[in-house]
Order: sequence, then C-alpha cells, then structure tokens
Amino acid sequence: MNWENTKDNLEAKVDLHIHSNFSDSDLTIEDIFKTARLKELFAIAITDHDTVDGLEEAKRYSAIYDIELIEGIELSTQKDDAEIHILGYFLDSSNHKLKEELSNIKKLRKERLCGMIRKLNELKFNLDEKAILSRVKNAMPTRLHLALELVKKGKVKTLREGFEKYLSPGKPGYLSRFKYSVKEGINLIKSYGGLAFLAHPQLIPDKSWIEEFIELGIDGLEIAYPRLSAAKSLLYKETADKFGILKSGGSDAHGSYKEFIQIGEVFVPYAWVIEMKKRINILK
Ligand SMILES: [Zn+2]
Ligand SMILES: [Zn+2]
Repeated sequence: MNWENTKDNLEAKVDLHIHSNFSDSDLTIEDIFKTARLKELFAIAITDHDTVDGLEEAKRYSAIYDIELIEGIELSTQKDDAEIHILGYFLDSSNHKLKEELSNIKKLRKERLCGMIRKLNELKFNLDEKAILSRVKNAMPTRLHLALELVKKGKVKTLREGFEKYLSPGKPGYLSRFKYSVKEGINLIKSYGGLAFLAHPQLIPDKSWIEEFIELGIDGLEIAYPRLSAAKSLLYKETADKFGILKSGGSDAHGSYKEFIQIGEVFVPYAWVIEMKKRINILK
C-alpha cells in the first residue's frame, strides 16, 4: 500500500474484526478477501481467536486482491468470571516467540475440547473424538467445533441450542480453560508491537471495568459493532475521546456460523487505521 495515497482514503471503508476458518468461522482466507472486494473494503483486519496462523496466507491474498491487511488477533482474557476479548492490531505475526506462546494455548484448548467430549460421553452422547478433531484440523479448537458435532448427531437443532444446553458455563459439557488476565493479554499484544483494543465493550458485565482496562494500557475501544445501539456507540466514542485513546470497529463476521452479519456490513473509516499507525509510529 502506498502511504501517499492514503490521504485520499480517509473515508474508505474498513472492517477490523473478521474471523476465518483458522478459528471458529467457516470462511477461508480467500473467501474473506473475495467478499471484502465485493463490499469494496479498502483494508481488513483478520482477528482469529488466540491465533495468528491464518495471517501468512492472508498476506498473500492481500497482495493478490490489493486490499490492505492489518495483522490481527482476538485474545481471550479473563476478569473474575467474565471473558474479556482483547483485539490486537499490527502485531508481528511472524515472530517465533509469539507463535510458540500461541501454540501452547492451542494445545491447552485441544485438551479442553477433549475433556468436554469426555464429559458429554459420560452422559452417553457417543461423540467420536477423532472425527471432531479431524474437522478442527489445524485451526484453534473451540466449542464451536463441538457444537457442530452436536447438530450433526441430532442432539440439538441449532448451534445456539448446543451452546445454551451443553457448552456454556454451568452446563453439563462445559469446562473452563486457561485464559490470560486482561493485563497479561494487553502486555502480550504490546510486547509483539501491537495495539490492544477492548472488543465489544457492551458485553462487559461491569461498565466501570472499561476505565480500569484503559488504565491497564488499552489503546482503543471497539465502538462499531453489529446491533450496537447508536447511543452506546456514542458513549464509547466519548470515553475514547476523553482518555485520548483510539477507535475501532467491524463486523465480527463468522461466515455461516453467524448468519445475521457478514463481512463489511459494519465498517469504519480508514482514517481510524491511520490514527493507529500514527500511534505506533508507522506513519509520522
Ligand atoms: Zn469477541
Ligand atoms: Zn470476534
């Protein structure tokens, strides 16, 4: 991407929250770029859960489709009993230490998935662990992969029902898993050159936490998101402005697993990406 041209592109559309089949979407990296082209997106961020494994391929398609790629991740962290998602942008996805750290998370997630399968099998679900793991392939193992099997086996009608009946905290198939603290998550992203954003702040149980996370070093808030009310979006924008932090937004598209929202249906202006680049001194 030619930096000189970016001045003309302040209003160009970007989607900064997209999942691929490297985590819990059924979209391939190429599908994502094809759709991004159709939706006339100027830049996209691929933000898979706890993995950067899709980004190598994404860099190639970024060049082919001439759509700027912002290397991203969506890290799962925890505060009290709540799961807090931290989006990382511009982190160095080719860094070996980062890959090693994330492959350890993948191992733990796989063990957890197998544990959840065992729990359900104790209830006579007769789930085939091998078949489930072969569908996961090299992706980050998630509860979605188990929910898909429950639908396939006719144990539930929909993925949502699978989560609600069996795979959520307190339900018979659920196991918690390792998560970073919010502080550790922010530090991890920053230590690999990234910017850390609080994803979908409206899902946080205690609103006072937002300021707490900003004090921990959050660089920005995700203020555009599917079904986020204009009033809340404005509130988060004002919070971001008040603390002098950045803004982000996107579709959080998961392909056909979240049919109500597709890539590019929530977008933000490229100007916000320029602000991010200034913050990390890519642009002065
Ligand atoms: Zn999330
Ligand atoms: Zn997401």
